[in-house]
Amino acid sequence: LVSRKRHPQDTIVDIRGQKIGDGNKYFVAGPCSVESEEQVRATAREIKRHGLTLLRGGAFKPRTSPYDFQGLGEEGLKILRKVADEFGLSVISEIMAPEDVEMSLKYVDVIQVGARNMQNFNLLKAVGRVKKPVLLKRGLAATIEEFKYAAEYILSQGNDQVILCERGIRTYERATRNTLDITAVPILKQETHLPVAVDVTHSTGRRDIMIPAAKAAIAIGADMVMAEVHPDPAVALSDSQQQMDFPQFDTFMDALKPVVFS
Ligand code: PEP
Ligand code: MN
Repeated sequence: LVSRKRHPQDTIVDIRGQKIGDGNKYFVAGPCSVESEEQVRATAREIKRHGLTLLRGGAFKPRTSPYDFQGLGEEGLKILRKVADEFGLSVISEIMAPEDVEMSLKYVDVIQVGARNMQNFNLLKAVGRVKKPVLLKRGLAATIEEFKYAAEYILSQGNDQVILCERGIRTYERATRNTLDITAVPILKQETHLPVAVDVTHSTGRRDIMIPAAKAAIAIGADMVMAEVHPDPAVALSDSQQQMDFPQFDTFMDALKPVVFS
C-alpha cells in the first residue's frame, strides 16, 4: 500500500488545511518536552511570529532512563491544545501506547510515533484505525525496508495520512548524536507516495550544524523539517544540549526563510 508502483500519485497529508506533500516546504518546531503552559506559550509565540503553523511538544516521553523526566502525559496534551488554539497552530505530539490513541484524538492534530516505537505493531495498528494524520519516525536501527513496512502497518488499517520522518540512525560515528541518512529522503520519495520529513535535531544533536542539515533536507526533497526550540534550553527537562534557544531559532529561520512555506 505504501509503494509508489501501486499508487503513482503523491499522497497529501492534510493537517488542518496545511497540505503536506503539495510541493511546499513545511516546518515543525517546538520543545522536546511540554514542561509548563508558560514554556509552551512562549515557544508558540515565536513559531507564530515566524509564520509557522505546526507546533510540536512531547507529553509522553520515551526516555532512555526510567529516572529521567517522563513527560506530563494527558496534562501536557491539554496544554498543547490550549496554547495552540490561542495562536491558531496545529499540534504534533507523540503517543506511546495503543490505549492512549483514542484519548489523544481530542488534543492532537498529528499523532507522532517515535523512533523507539517504530516496530510497536499494536501501536501502528491502533493509529492506523483512526482518522488522524501520523508522523512516523524511523527506528534507531531500522532499514528503509523496515521503515516502509512500519508505514504499511498503518496504511493496512485504513489510514493513509502518514508522513515518514528520517531522524538519524545509529552508526559507529559519534561526532553527531545519530547519523542523518539524508539519501533516505529521495529513496522514500521514489519508492513510496508518502510525504517525507527530516528531524534535524535528533539526527544531528548539534545546534551548530542545524542550518546546513535543514538546507540539505530541503534540497534533497524533504517536504517537512522538524527542529526543537525551547525558551531556555539550559534548564530543559530533556534534550537540553540540542534544543535551539530563540535567538538561534531566529537565525535558523532567517537562513531557511527563502524556502519555507509555513
Ligand atoms: C521526539 O521527537 O520527541 C523524539 C523523542 O524523537 P525520536 O523518537 O526520533 O527519538
Ligand atoms: Mn527531543
